[in-house]
Amino acid sequence: MPRDYAIDKVRNIGIMAHIDAGKTTTSERILFYTGKTHKIGEVHDGGATMDWMAQEQERGITITSAATTCIWKNHKINLIDTPGHVDFTMEVERSLRVLDGAVEVFTAKEGVQAQSIKVWNQANKYGVPRIAYVNKMDTLGADFFYAVDQMHEMLGANAVPIELPIGKEDTFQGVIDLVNMKAIYFRDDEGKIFDTVDIPADLLPQAEEYRQKLIESVAETDDALLEKFFGGEELSVEEIKSAIRKSTISLHMLPVLCGSSYKNKGIQELLDAVVDYLPSPVDIPPMAGTDMDGNPITCPVDDNAPLAGLAFKIATDQFGRLTFYRIYSGKITAGSYVLNTTTGEKERISRLVRMHSNSRAEIQEAYAGDIVAIIGLKDTSTGDTLCDESHPVKLENMDYPDPVISMAIEPKTKGDQEKMTNALLKLAGEDPSFHFKTDKETGQTIIAGMGELHLNIMVDRMKREYNVECNVGAPQVAYKETLRGSIEAVGKYIRQSGGKGQYGHCVVEFEGLPAGSGYQFVDATVGGSIPKEYIPAVDKGIREAAQSGVLAGYPTVDFKATVVDGSYHEVDSSEAAFMIAGSMAFKEAFKKGSSVILEPIMKVEVQVPDKYLGDVLGDLSRRRGNVLGTTLKNGNQTIEAEVPLSEMSGYVTDLRSLTQGRGDSSMEPCKYAEVPRNIAEKIIGDRAKN
Ligand code: GDP
Repeated sequence: MPRDYAIDKVRNIGIMAHIDAGKTTTSERILFYTGKTHKIGEVHDGGATMDWMAQEQERGITITSAATTCIWKNHKINLIDTPGHVDFTMEVERSLRVLDGAVEVFTAKEGVQAQSIKVWNQANKYGVPRIAYVNKMDTLGADFFYAVDQMHEMLGANAVPIELPIGKEDTFQGVIDLVNMKAIYFRDDEGKIFDTVDIPADLLPQAEEYRQKLIESVAETDDALLEKFFGGEELSVEEIKSAIRKSTISLHMLPVLCGSSYKNKGIQELLDAVVDYLPSPVDIPPMAGTDMDGNPITCPVDDNAPLAGLAFKIATDQFGRLTFYRIYSGKITAGSYVLNTTTGEKERISRLVRMHSNSRAEIQEAYAGDIVAIIGLKDTSTGDTLCDESHPVKLENMDYPDPVISMAIEPKTKGDQEKMTNALLKLAGEDPSFHFKTDKETGQTIIAGMGELHLNIMVDRMKREYNVECNVGAPQVAYKETLRGSIEAVGKYIRQSGGKGQYGHCVVEFEGLPAGSGYQFVDATVGGSIPKEYIPAVDKGIREAAQSGVLAGYPTVDFKATVVDGSYHEVDSSEAAFMIAGSMAFKEAFKKGSSVILEPIMKVEVQVPDKYLGDVLGDLSRRRGNVLGTTLKNGNQTIEAEVPLSEMSGYVTDLRSLTQGRGDSSMEPCKYAEVPRNIAEKIIGDRAKN
């Protein structure tokens, strides 16, 4: 079966925005105009097609990234839904991995907001070409040029309008297309009828000024164009378009469009720009990976190459478990087998489907550069590589930060324990930043993740999708423990009173390591003081003991254990005895040495009108925040700070009341740092009470 669309006619795009800027409305309108939905669904009625998960609609936020295929002017657009909420940074990054280009939505009134900066930086990290869409031109206070200025000032973007608005607020009625130099007026409520006419005389001077800016900016990218331009020759529409495309894909330019998604104005032009200016899979560097020996390889964008692709999202809907899959090389066929190089297991591709929100089309084959959903994979998790069995490859996986917050949970009905465990297994497979475990001491199930909202949503999903209702405990900050300096300790476990005894003895040097180093184990024994077969048992004993630190029982991280000496007994020594000896050495070292508690620190970005700066900084310092800097732009201060997570509860509400609702913030885990002594004492005291 040949491919349906040539590869240069494929666009894998995401829509990114600050929450409430109109990402959902814009996505939904795109589906409407591309003919896949029949009725315009309103976000505020909870009817939007993209938000197919019930709680997203209730909360009005988008938390999963389903990929939806639509067709526009003979191009196939795979629209990857990216979440807008700050607690889902990882979801945004995961989407960024698999998309080739993005539309960043701004609002005409607020311009660049806290989360716009954040998603902008994330897209920079992955080198994603973008176009900007200034939405809500119909709202009071809409100012297209202010938004463009902010893109320059706050994002450092080379933002160049390729459209200008005609009118604004309640007189917003169309756009001027600066490439074709035409005015487009929208005539009906659904934006289906529009007239393309000559630019009216009163708007012409401004249009010419901005057209000139556009031409200057594209001419710079190409010597031939520059020459033509300075020679006073007109550039053709095709030349301008191809230069915009080149500059956008090479990240030199951010073309800016405008519209009102809610009022159905400007979406068709946005779709044209997606097709004209955002890259196809062949326009971007090929995906990198490694072979099974760790040698770097790249995956050519070629249907005839061996299959290689990434499972980037697992979603369970009413039809079952779907694995969203981005194909980088080769083709995938229904009924075939593929190798999951992350797990080492072979899996069968039972069925392949192309998704459109709630409906789907079964397909037999899909090709390099495409995104499809696979039905029937049992053991594949988010981030796994699926490839041709005879050409194993591992694609670069993402780094997920450790969870920073946890919560005890139990099923409301005793008999639901197993159901709850099943649900947790599925959810953790979908979302690598979500974890769960059973607390050995209390037997409680503990869930952990990136923030309170993240965990609440998981609990909500268990109820809706898996029919398990749970009681939850108070959120707990995920502290850790570590060692400062180094210390030697002896673990001696000897029981020799009649019959077969126990004999394990080790001398271990413990040394604190820099944050993020993890746990390292070294065997430095000489002369067989401990027989080789017992060394792994010492390691295991230390590893297990480290799960519960000596200060307050938090996991101990970032240290090195070097076994330097020990002794054994011909008859009485056993693995079990050396494990216990290892754990005794650990406990002794951390009790005698200088153990410290570490706490998660969040990177916090706050935007407030200048007059509230003092109050907001005061509040951050009361929360033990370390302010890294403030930037004043257009009367707005952007504050960057690092604040302990334990001090951030209720921040959004407090910020609102400090700033009369005008402050805005976002945060994400950034590092672990030592807890000050007085606070450490309190943490230890609290743990002792429980
Ligand atoms: P998201 O959080 O970025 O997905 O934003 P939504 O699409 O959910 O939009 C947030 C709110 O803004 C909703 O109430 C929308 O109806 C409204 N909205 C979206 N686009 C526009 C627009 O162009 N004009 C106006 N006036 N409201 C809009």
